[in-house]
Amino acid sequence: MYSQRGAAIAAAAVLFVALSGCSRDTGNSGGGNQQPDNPAPKSAQAVFTPLSAFVPSAPQPVKATDGKFHLAYEVQVLNILSQPIALQSVRAMSGSTTLQNLSGEGLTSVIRVLGAQQPSGITDGGPAFSKPPAAVVGPGQSALVWMDVAVNSEAAVPRDITHAIDLEVLNPSEPLYGKTLTENVAATHVRMTDPVVITSPLRGIHWVDGNGCCATATPHRMASSPLNGNLYAPERFAIDFVQLNDQGLLFTGDKAKMESYAYHGADIHAVADGPIVAVMNDRPEQVPGTAPTGLKIDEYGGNYVVQYLGNGRYAFYAHLMPGDGVKVKVGEQMAKGDVIGKVGNSGNSDAPHLHFHVMDGPDPLASNGLPFVIDDFTLEAQLTPQSLDTVVTGQPAQYDPAVKKATRTDEMPLYRDVLGF
Ligand SMILES: [Zn+2]
Repeated sequence: MYSQRGAAIAAAAVLFVALSGCSRDTGNSGGGNQQPDNPAPKSAQAVFTPLSAFVPSAPQPVKATDGKFHLAYEVQVLNILSQPIALQSVRAMSGSTTLQNLSGEGLTSVIRVLGAQQPSGITDGGPAFSKPPAAVVGPGQSALVWMDVAVNSEAAVPRDITHAIDLEVLNPSEPLYGKTLTENVAATHVRMTDPVVITSPLRGIHWVDGNGCCATATPHRMASSPLNGNLYAPERFAIDFVQLNDQGLLFTGDKAKMESYAYHGADIHAVADGPIVAVMNDRPEQVPGTAPTGLKIDEYGGNYVVQYLGNGRYAFYAHLMPGDGVKVKVGEQMAKGDVIGKVGNSGNSDAPHLHFHVMDGPDPLASNGLPFVIDDFTLEAQLTPQSLDTVVTGQPAQYDPAVKKATRTDEMPLYRDVLGF
């Protein structure tokens, strides 16, 4: 489910296209055709860069439950040489300050060649670069790097970010380029826009943030949809909510029976005022414990609701129960807290859960994900990374002792957080 290693409650309306990518949207509107909002290069001197790189969607800061301000975004690279290029490190820079430094497994776990099923890296029989493991991008290949720049205060949020990428090639071509080089590329502005403040779509305690932001390249972060000629990243900040019982169990009894999941049918509430703009309510529920296959493009979200929140932002609630499990109709004006439906297991789902995200357009797939913060909640605990793999097998949850219970205001939950609303 929420582990990228496992299968699981896969991302809601995601097309698990083997690669990922992003639209070139800068975040405000629904389209995917705008050019990146990148600053002009500071130097007039042309520099040979065999790896081209850009930031498709300008990062937007959001305060999360670790107290840090996160910038979760992607760097897209393209190898224009006729030989492989190894990326030894990718550093996000603000002036001379290193904001994030990815190398070794820290890099290979968050980079993927478009079309590849697995993270990039040297494989058996691959070219011998000097410092494996490195992230190797083949001739003509493109890859995405999922960045997570986290700073300690709002004042420390950079206004601009550039990227230093250390490269190695097998066959240098002097004087154009040597065996190793460092490119300074992919400059981007930071969008200094406040995330939308919402109330929780759920009530109750022990709700787990599955597949949420930021550091881990979860199925949500890596999800990308090639639609209408563009690549979209609608699930950049999406959360799969599931609920544990008081014993820390996801289910009791037969994993394949819906009644084993006590939270199945839990009420889902409107996260803000705003009209309903899209509804689907006739999709059947899936058998829990089994990942569905053969879904059409419009079936991934199962039964879902899209609500307009204003300022170009839309909320997406997915995998609801069918029929009366969806309580609203297109055009209905909702007030914050109104019940819109019930947690179900329809669409691309292998256990009951609510997939929730905020996006910049009304289409759950052909849109880009935007950050959001929840106005008032309790951070109860945080699952250990290993616990995510075992809780879906019926084992009780294990918690990170370093994360203490506390009330939180206007923060974005993080992956593996356990939450009370
Ligand atoms: Zn999801």
